[in-house]
Amino acid sequence: QVKAQRGNALCFFDPQMQIEINHRARLESDLQAALAEGQFELHYQPQFTLGGALVGAEALLRWHHPQRGLVAPSEFITVAEDSGLIVPLGLWVLRTACQQLATWQGDPRSAGLQLSVNVSARQFRQPDFAERVIGVLQQTGARSHLLKLELTESLVLDDVQDSIAKMHLLRTKGVRFSMDDFGTGHSSLAYLTRLPLHQLKIDQSFVRNLGLRHTDDVIVQTIIGMARTLDLEVIAEGVETAEQRDFLASHGCDLYQGYLFGRPMPVAGLEALLSPLSQSQAGQEAR
Ligand code: C2E
Ligand code: MG
Ligand code: MG
Ligand code: MG
Repeated sequence: QVKAQRGNALCFFDPQMQIEINHRARLESDLQAALAEGQFELHYQPQFTLGGALVGAEALLRWHHPQRGLVAPSEFITVAEDSGLIVPLGLWVLRTACQQLATWQGDPRSAGLQLSVNVSARQFRQPDFAERVIGVLQQTGARSHLLKLELTESLVLDDVQDSIAKMHLLRTKGVRFSMDDFGTGHSSLAYLTRLPLHQLKIDQSFVRNLGLRHTDDVIVQTIIGMARTLDLEVIAEGVETAEQRDFLASHGCDLYQGYLFGRPMPVAGLEALLSPLSQSQAGQEAR
């Protein structure tokens, strides 16, 4: 039988590997279809001051797969990166986020809200990345200083010259930058000072062990101190307990994001957090 012969010919081949390859190929074509058919959605995780003012949100991508239900980014971002699909997908995220910003701007209760958007390496390395962002801002009418792009250390360090050039161009247009997952990469003060950053985002792996692992306590204190020295805003992600919040607060952390404060939620959920009072507060904070 043909099948058996083929089986013999490929006997050196690990069947588990074939399953993995099939799975990836399937995921890739599903992702492509998903973008065309509008299966993606942005959820928004709120960000607060210690005083409880809502200052903005992080946009987090969600995929409603017709068969598999809600699929987490950890299951598809890497495949989207490897296949290059992250470029059109990332543009969709940016456009959707900026449309949301523009909508919020039209309502005095939400006009000051900032929106953080994750940028992938492959997307950022596109030669026209900065021009694309500027184009989306113009098309949507979103105010550039309310858009915050989240980059990682490895992304920036991968090509420092290119990163600095793009960041400076966007910075002159008003766009802000946050260093996501900060502390997990190979940062040095020397290169941090060369980047036009607005914010450091303490990685949740350090926040998780606050009060439990002394080294993480020290790392978090150091990051907050670094932010102070460089005159950057500092936000903690993955804040789940009052103890973590209190530790961060006692060391001067500016902003808070995590399950203790709110999970990523559909836009209606975020808008429900806007009481008339906290909205106007948020507007003033952002100014
Ligand atoms: P990230 O940018 O570091 O986002 C934070 C992740 O931590 C999110 O996971 C969020 O849901 C989760 N998180 C927030 N608060 C807590 C908490 O208190 N406890 C715990 N355990 N987790 C918390 P999510 O949404 O699954 O996203 C995972 C990663 O996928 C993101 O990490 C980001 O790197 C990537 N990602 C998400 N959306 C996008 C996107 O639109 N574009 C790109 N390029 N990457 C994205
Ligand atoms: Mg992020
Ligand atoms: Mg992060
Ligand atoms: Mg992270």
